Amino acid sequence: MRIVEQALKGDRRAIARLISLMESGGPEARQALSRLYPHTGQADVIGVTGAPGTGKSTLVNELAKAYRHQGLTVGIVAVDPTSPFSGGALLGDRIRMSEVATVPGIFIRSMASRGNLGGLARATADAVHVLDAAGYPMILVETVGAGQSEVKIAGMAHTTIVVQMPASGDGVQAIKAGILEIADIILVNKADLPGAEDAAQALEAMLDLGSVRAERLRDELLGVGGSGADANDLPGPWRPPVLRTSAIRGEGIGDLVTAIEEHGQYQRDSGLKAGRDRKRAMAELRHILQSTLLEHLLRQIPEKGLEDTVERIVVREMDPHSAAQKLIAESGLTRDSLCSCC
Ligand code: GDP
Repeated sequence: MRIVEQALKGDRRAIARLISLMESGGPEARQALSRLYPHTGQADVIGVTGAPGTGKSTLVNELAKAYRHQGLTVGIVAVDPTSPFSGGALLGDRIRMSEVATVPGIFIRSMASRGNLGGLARATADAVHVLDAAGYPMILVETVGAGQSEVKIAGMAHTTIVVQMPASGDGVQAIKAGILEIADIILVNKADLPGAEDAAQALEAMLDLGSVRAERLRDELLGVGGSGADANDLPGPWRPPVLRTSAIRGEGIGDLVTAIEEHGQYQRDSGLKAGRDRKRAMAELRHILQSTLLEHLLRQIPEKGLEDTVERIVVREMDPHSAAQKLIAESGLTRDSLCSCC
């Protein structure tokens, strides 16, 4: 495949086309990925997540510029799982207008969900593989904090930055359950606004409350949990630093770069990195298996049967559980070939 060879040499158009191929999926995408995959595993993948408006895009711009100054090339994947249609396009527009969009050595790509969150997580992982294979040593993955999907996407990052900003009222924005637990670094962005110090202190207090369980909970949330042995083997658990930045003024970015480096070093020193890499591979494999098997199994159910059955459920002639059992029986998929949860 010529396109793969070109992408491996860093050809931007080939990279862009390959990422589009990954978004569409299918046999050609799989074939390309199998050629690319041996060249992956070199990049540092940094996840940046948080609510809309906290300043993630501005921050990612600044971070990309900082790495560029160090002489590193940077790949940026901006993911918006919240709005499959207009939102994705908006994000795309914003990215085209972004300051670093035309900087040589920085490659930016936006991904929208197109109504399928599972597919988005997979396509994002594949886009990261493409950029990694193409030789980008730093890959920044920006996601809108929107629940389970961004947790999954954060799972592929080596270091996850959760972005908060001061709130006008009681110091810190409402924090979604689970969001702090996925954080390796917590940022109070917009530190030029009033209330930043209060927000940082509130976040420190939350960390004090949650620190003991955070490491394990984090692995569980990311779907990379296993024996939990990692947490016990560590020299000491990683406590996410709470940093202040003003992305718009470019302040605090140096400290952020240092914190990212320190987190990488901690993972290498503690032996956590190898374990995490394995768990990440397991999570990715499981995710692909689940979606592929599900697609395969659903194809066995005739479309007509599905529609008729929906009608019967709607008029209360059948309940959804019995209907599912009936369709499975009729499709020739025996219960024995399915797991007990089905
Ligand atoms: P995102 O939705 O999280 O990607 O946020 P954006 O990067 O688009 O920023 C949202 C708004 O906040 C924009 O108007 C930015 O100019 C502004 N903004 C970003 N960073 C800062 C900051 O550090 N301080 C202030 N005061 N505003 C900021």
